[in-house]
Amino acid sequence: MEIAHWYANHFESRIAGRYITLEHITTLLDGYALNFEISVGGYSELGQPIPYVKIGKGPNIVLGWSQMHGNESTTTKALFDFFKFLAQKDFFQAEISKFLNTYTFCVFPMLNPDGSKRYTRENANNIDLNRDAQALSQKESQCLRNAFETLHPSLCLNLHDQRSIYGFKNGKPATVSFLSPAVNKSRTLTNARKIAMQEIVKMNTVLQQFIPGQVGRYDDSFNEACVGDTFQKAGVPTILFEAGHHEQDYQREKTREYIFYALLSLFDFIGNSENRPDYSSYFDLPENLANYNDFILRNVKLQGENKPLSVAIQFDEVLENDKIRFSPIVNAIGNLRHKFGHREKNGEGREILTNSEDKLTIGENISEIYDKLDYSIIYFKKTCVFI
Ligand SMILES: [Zn+2]
Repeated sequence: MEIAHWYANHFESRIAGRYITLEHITTLLDGYALNFEISVGGYSELGQPIPYVKIGKGPNIVLGWSQMHGNESTTTKALFDFFKFLAQKDFFQAEISKFLNTYTFCVFPMLNPDGSKRYTRENANNIDLNRDAQALSQKESQCLRNAFETLHPSLCLNLHDQRSIYGFKNGKPATVSFLSPAVNKSRTLTNARKIAMQEIVKMNTVLQQFIPGQVGRYDDSFNEACVGDTFQKAGVPTILFEAGHHEQDYQREKTREYIFYALLSLFDFIGNSENRPDYSSYFDLPENLANYNDFILRNVKLQGENKPLSVAIQFDEVLENDKIRFSPIVNAIGNLRHKFGHREKNGEGREILTNSEDKLTIGENISEIYDKLDYSIIYFKKTCVFI
């Protein structure tokens, strides 16, 4: 596949991992001063600039924003892959020229620079900007709203990460999920919703070539405090992107690649741009379920229990020395028949002991699990994820 070859050799390798801050992207943006219009769209609550990038001069205005949640950086990395793709002069030149004449792509690659620095979902005032669409109490929310009102976009892209707890009924992980947000409690199918659904169907068709069965749709209950719901309700088709988990890719370097392909298909660089897909195929996408954990230890005996059980471990992401440490926390204990692990191990009925030597409890930070008989290690966090 031509585009996969381009990507492997040319993706934006200067940003990687989960911790992406304003410092990381500012240097990269400076390099695009001659290619795109780069400016400051507003200022964060702590006075940091919110970078704004404008690409192309076409009639179709698309407004996007990433890292509205500071700890959700995968789509930011994908945007920089997309910028690099648009600025190169060797491949897809006719398509790029068409894109620049068809679209004006206006994007905030990091709407929440304060939260990105702290690696938090919320901004510096501990406000979730994606629950501030009505109150508009935060400068970052006002910045986005101003752009929305000034630009009159025909499409909005709300770019996020989702946790590794999501998968589908088919047992596959939710590597990429989309949502065409609802506009009311009864989830009426408005024209804007249908257009967003068509675009999602289009992107899904391309993504199935890369991650079959691993693309789904997010819960569409209506929440007016969310930005996507608010913009969609205002009649502008809005797509929520949720970059999720793939195999043991905790840095989400594979998922960023899939988001890049999704953007390329959205803007008709790849895939079949001839036919407008049927919006109703959107409902064929599997629904996100919270049925995954990072690690599941099956078939072990716990102190005081007769039957063998399973122990699910979920990683907490902790910012430490400018890196993200994945700290294992006991998330569930039980038969866990309907849960899947990104990694699983069979404890073969052995009785286990933890590092604290106490009874295993939910919420406990657990870095080692031993065999009670011979103290051999059954689980150790370093064998599970490595940063
Ligand atoms: Zn988010």
